[in-house]
Amino acid sequence: MLKVENLSTHIGNIQILHAINLEVHSGEIVSVIGANGAGKSTLLNTLAGLYKPSEGKVTLHGETISGFPSHHVVGKGLALVPEGRQIFSNLTVEENLRLGMYSKYFKEKESVKGNLEKVLEMFPGLKKHMHNLGGFLSGGEQQMLAIGRGLMSNPKIILLDEPSMGLAPMIVNEILENLKYIKEQLGTMVILVEQNVKAALRVADRVYVMDQGKIILNGTRDEISNNANVQSAYLGVK
Ligand code: ATP
Repeated sequence: MLKVENLSTHIGNIQILHAINLEVHSGEIVSVIGANGAGKSTLLNTLAGLYKPSEGKVTLHGETISGFPSHHVVGKGLALVPEGRQIFSNLTVEENLRLGMYSKYFKEKESVKGNLEKVLEMFPGLKKHMHNLGGFLSGGEQQMLAIGRGLMSNPKIILLDEPSMGLAPMIVNEILENLKYIKEQLGTMVILVEQNVKAALRVADRVYVMDQGKIILNGTRDEISNNANVQSAYLGVK
């Protein structure tokens, strides 16, 4: 289980996250929704070690992972698929994937070859592009490459920052199916941050709602989908 306790983050002098409490249990997809600027990306980036929290702590299966740099955090089992995919356009698809395991914190026993095979089994469409440059892929394929790169480290939990951004509805469906596969077949916990609230609610087991750097509401998918405030603010229900 991932446990986030009382987590606060400052960027410069400005406090962006205010005492966040959040849990992800084994076998769960947890979605975090909220308006632009609510702090969702800052939360994921803090969990991934890109920002150092000013207060609070994060544990993964009981082991503290907060306060360490990102390459250390990934070695401890948490992978981030960042907003905007951030794949390397001038590297091949295979090189992009291999970068997912580029950290001295991986033990010898971690097999690059085995993990590559696992990722390609999940995204067979990437196979024919292995030696093509990442920049030549379509938006959907680039998103799959970014998720595949995250999975290369064999994480216990994977965090996805707006994977549906800019993608056609059919491709969004495919990505959501991939998330179910990650949960059910790989047994990996998932945190999904989405502006596309309908998509987020489709696959989530539980949902947290953020506003101005705070969690203002959380519950099961059904509780959040049926909440009148969520319906009017995010689902266009009058
Ligand atoms: P979006 O969906 O637009 O990405 P978000 O919920 O992910 O929104 P964040 O990107 O985490 O929100 O931003 C939260 C707040 O922190 C915003 O007010 C933003 O302006 C501020 N912020 C984020 N990153 C920085 C930074 N590097 N420097 C200064 N302020 C920042």
